[in-house]
Amino acid sequence: MSDHEDGSHLTEMELRVRALETVLAEKGYIDPAVLDLIVEHFETKVGPHIGARVVAQAWVDTAFRQALLADATAAIAASGNFPPVGDHLIAVENTPDQHNMVVCTLCSCYPWDVLGLPPVWYKSAPYRSRVVMDPRGVLREFGVALPEGARLRVWDSTAETRYLVLPRRPAGTEGWTVDQLAALVTRDSMIGTGLALTPEGDPQ
Ligand code: FE
Repeated sequence: MSDHEDGSHLTEMELRVRALETVLAEKGYIDPAVLDLIVEHFETKVGPHIGARVVAQAWVDTAFRQALLADATAAIAASGNFPPVGDHLIAVENTPDQHNMVVCTLCSCYPWDVLGLPPVWYKSAPYRSRVVMDPRGVLREFGVALPEGARLRVWDSTAETRYLVLPRRPAGTEGWTVDQLAALVTRDSMIGTGLALTPEGDPQ
């Protein structure tokens, strides 16, 4: 565990979580060992590499891409290539005319199943408020300049609905395998605060 085992450096929220966990464990509602396994699962097994493979598959397989855009949860389940994801996952596709960004203005809803743990900035108040008021400015701060005339659409997640951005396939990757392509799909490109990497692995 951390070097803050005495609890003295925990935030108020962390203290509350720890208190709640202790009470629930003492009452027998949860098994701390199982809780540890769940946390470990999300820390080590679930991550943006899953989403990256979904995106890469969509780039090489038109039928999968169309199914993904129609119903991402169903398409991922039907493919048999990925772990199952929760209900109501919606894939939104970047095109030359439209760039998509994802936020949860209310709290921090995030497609954990395909992206793993959310980055700290995703949960921060400045991102959550500014991405709605000034999405282009936020995008610039992430180093992404949209072409003139491209629309920017911000999708607000809820407890029931999670979004996955399908970034544009980088030019110069014709004939690449899913594995090769997946290496170019960054976490941020699937949130919409970044783009997929170039064939050389550099930011676009
Ligand atoms: Fe939320």
